[in-house]
Amino acid sequence: MAESISIVIPVYNEVESLPHLYKSVKDSVKSLKRPYEIVFIDDGSTDGSIGVLESIQESDEQVVVVTFRRNFGQTAAMAAGFKYATGDIIITMDADLQNDPADIPVLLEAIKDADVVSGWRKNRQDKLLSRRMPSVAANWLISKVTGVALHDYGCTLKAYRKEVIKNINLYGEMHRFIPALASWVGAKIVEVETTHHARKYGTSKYGISRILRVILDLITVKFLQSFSTRPIQAFGPAGLFLGGAGFLISLYLTAVKIFTGAPIGGRPLLMLGILCIILGVQLIILGLLGEMLARVYHESQNKPIFVVKKVLGKK
Ligand code: UDP
Ligand code: MG
Repeated sequence: MAESISIVIPVYNEVESLPHLYKSVKDSVKSLKRPYEIVFIDDGSTDGSIGVLESIQESDEQVVVVTFRRNFGQTAAMAAGFKYATGDIIITMDADLQNDPADIPVLLEAIKDADVVSGWRKNRQDKLLSRRMPSVAANWLISKVTGVALHDYGCTLKAYRKEVIKNINLYGEMHRFIPALASWVGAKIVEVETTHHARKYGTSKYGISRILRVILDLITVKFLQSFSTRPIQAFGPAGLFLGGAGFLISLYLTAVKIFTGAPIGGRPLLMLGILCIILGVQLIILGLLGEMLARVYHESQNKPIFVVKKVLGKK
């Protein structure tokens, strides 16, 4: 039987777009001739979106509506979508009609030999200065730092295999880093060009402050990728270096005092030496605390430090 699909759509105050969105998603998935469901997550809308979603759901049993108690953010909405989706392939898209449901077949074609397919809004219809230019820089930076090169991390239109996405936990603004997170657990990622439209109804939910949040999340993601199971390796080297430098500086000053008798109390070098020792000790302690946290994290939840693809011959 054909693999079933779930379309996951986060919704925050998109009342005018919803009827058009529902119709075009429905047209697109119906023509696929496969089992499907459409999962809307209402992220605490206050503009009547909930009413529209509920009436859509009443008339269509392929539709699932999850309503949040308040606005938790797009990442949380998408995480809820992944939780409630039951399809073998999960496709996410924006509710504002900026993504085109007609691209769904393109994603499905590409996922035949991949685990994650990421849309690329090649002709992006957003403002140049506040949107497209920061986005080029952000995508370059994210690609460099994560080692997973994509042109467009920010495009919500993506497709995932269930096995991959169900094993990824999201925090902060991390929905945009899913391809990187997936690639680190061994998923194959491909990119396809998708259509992008200007926003017709409603307003964008993000301003320029998104840039800072993305940078902070990128630091988190990179740290977790490199050091989550061995935090002392992240903090330890700097701790040893600073501690060692502080020790040598103090040794030198002690020798000066003992052998020449010159006063050292007012020397800036003394401050530096003390600072280095304190920082060095702090960093080592931070690393050790991290090591304990890593054990609590993995052992309390029976989380392995590896990802198994399959096991043959074990009963
Ligand atoms: N969204 C959400 N919760 C939020 C912010 C946004 O569910 O707190 C949804 C929003 O309704 C839309 C998608 O996430 O479906 C992308 O938001 P938006 O179009 O504002 O982002 P942009 O396209 O401007 O980057
Ligand atoms: Mg949008």
